[in-house]
Amino acid sequence: MEQPISVTRSNFNDWMVPVFAPANFIPVRGEGSRIWDQENKEYIDFAGGIAVNALGHAHPVAVNALTEQATKLWHVGNGYTNEPVLRLAKQLTENTFADKVFFCNSGAEANEAALKLARKVGLDSGVAGKSGIVAFKNAFHGRTLFTVSAGGQPKYSQDFAPLPNGINHVAFNDLDAAKAVINEQTCAVIVEPIQGEGGVIPADIEFLKGLRALCDEFGALLIFDEVQTGVGRTGSLYAYMNTGVIPDVLTTAKALGGGFPVGAMLTTDKYAPHFSVGTHGTTYGGNPLASAVAGAVFEFINTPEVLEGVKHRHQYFLDALNTLNAEYQIFEEIRGQGLLIGCVLKAEYAGKAKDITTWAGEEGLLALIAGPDVVRFTPSLIIPEQDIDEGIARLKRALAKLAK
Ligand SMILES: *Cc1c(COP(=O)(O)O)cnc(C)c1O
Repeated sequence: MEQPISVTRSNFNDWMVPVFAPANFIPVRGEGSRIWDQENKEYIDFAGGIAVNALGHAHPVAVNALTEQATKLWHVGNGYTNEPVLRLAKQLTENTFADKVFFCNSGAEANEAALKLARKVGLDSGVAGKSGIVAFKNAFHGRTLFTVSAGGQPKYSQDFAPLPNGINHVAFNDLDAAKAVINEQTCAVIVEPIQGEGGVIPADIEFLKGLRALCDEFGALLIFDEVQTGVGRTGSLYAYMNTGVIPDVLTTAKALGGGFPVGAMLTTDKYAPHFSVGTHGTTYGGNPLASAVAGAVFEFINTPEVLEGVKHRHQYFLDALNTLNAEYQIFEEIRGQGLLIGCVLKAEYAGKAKDITTWAGEEGLLALIAGPDVVRFTPSLIIPEQDIDEGIARLKRALAKLAK
């Protein structure tokens, strides 16, 4: 057999559109919460592919589901339904508030579907001009034009004007500010139960309850973007389950496929019929391959043992991080739920989150940032304690560089 073409990190600059600035090593294989690069250097994975690899790398449950389905049927197009997608829809509706599911391939597509559904429901209501969307500053909802516009970080949208209009951004966790802009013309409020990319900032329960009441009062859809918080990330199947607030629409992606691209928009029998035949669609969404993997990953995660394990690991992680911080005094606050953890840098280290993750890489640890001032960890939901210990030891060496 011919050798594969040899490639190096510098080829990224040769051939790739430069929207990313990847680390200076290339991962080539992974197992559990460890990854190896081209030089066979080992890394502990506290990034989890940005909250995606919920079962770590090459977990047998996911590998078996993938390879078994790969020999049967990959894709038929949505002119036909398929068994894996129906099974996955049954799992999602039986285990959440939802009655109906629309499948797609990413978080942005799930939010795009949610926002389009809300606009359609608004139109069908007969109330003139019921197209307003209320969203929150600092939010992240994806990179399509509609979802960067709904997102509350102008740096991601301002270069692409003219943007879709009718979107109002107000301060996160400020119920009075939301109250001032939600009215009869509002068709949707979109919110992350924990702002992920924005810095791992949990929504206050009273804030979410207030949004629920305002949506009920004015007939607007409450959309929870659970792309990052969903599928066990917080120690509950979905984060809304920790809040006592039930949304009308929930979007899920990232961990849903454990690394295989898949997304979904969940909603109720009240709203689903507004997406009638032909109003929305997708080529790949709900394909048998993605659905088979997601079904297996979802079934594995949705057990008391795995979900309790996430809560246990949260405490284990926090204890270790607090011990580190007692020594180095680098973090102002350590926050988040389950295995979505944000370490906020003290003012004197502002802007250094990226440096920390770069040094962590040198020490053999994959970690994330959430904005310039927050180091974020979203590891596998089943990361072994000894990998947490080893990762923390490597983080300690990275922090020692910063402290110097
Ligand atoms: C990652 C993310 C998205 C976008 O998902 P993609 O799969 O990258 O399109 C949307 N919302 C939230 C909260 C996310 O964390």
